[in-house]
Amino acid sequence: MKLKGFAPLTALLRLKSGLHIGSGEKGHFGEPLSVIKSLTSQLPYIPGSSIKGKMRHLLETAYARTSNGEPCGCGKCQICLLFGSGKSQTTYQPSRLIFRDCFLTERSRSLIEKADLEKKAGVRIDRESGKAAEKALYSLERVPEGCEFRLDISVRVFEKDDVSAIGQWLAMGLFNIEQDALGGSGTRGSGYVEFDEIEFDGKKFDKNWREECKKIKDDLLNEVHIRTER
Ligand SMILES: [Zn+2]
Repeated sequence: MKLKGFAPLTALLRLKSGLHIGSGEKGHFGEPLSVIKSLTSQLPYIPGSSIKGKMRHLLETAYARTSNGEPCGCGKCQICLLFGSGKSQTTYQPSRLIFRDCFLTERSRSLIEKADLEKKAGVRIDRESGKAAEKALYSLERVPEGCEFRLDISVRVFEKDDVSAIGQWLAMGLFNIEQDALGGSGTRGSGYVEFDEIEFDGKKFDKNWREECKKIKDDLLNEVHIRTER
């Protein structure tokens, strides 16, 4: 297998609602659950793993490639070849997609430095009584709507890989994320995002790219773009 080179995908990731990607810290009662921040800048960012995990999960669900809620892991389908099988026994080839961490644009950075992050109050409901549970008030730190991050994905291109088809897979992934959500509390309003100014392998995405995704959806998994036999 010979690596031909790399094809970059870049885009603006714009928040249409507040975004909460938790830092994993539990926090004390009454304190907002904090978002993950860069240690050097103290500003929020979106870990590459969050975008990768969400995109993979949505594509696997769209093409029924999950097994008992676990990632596919077969190592041979197009999704495993793109994202990696996740298991050493079924890793036949290097995965193609590299998701960088996404950082705020300059404009959004200065916005947050001035206006700070949003603290969204929530109430935990007791399932049995349907009333607010004891110690039920909590709040969620969110990156406010309108903020923009730079999305940056690098694709490893091997000989015989169909680069434009890999672009279609990425488009399908982004299209699915737009309709779903990123981060926590996604079913309750957080993490609604859109992508703009998308460029792949030096070419701008067509302005009708979302319509294209709807058209090619059924065929994408059946066509072989990355071959397992060489
Ligand atoms: Zn698979």
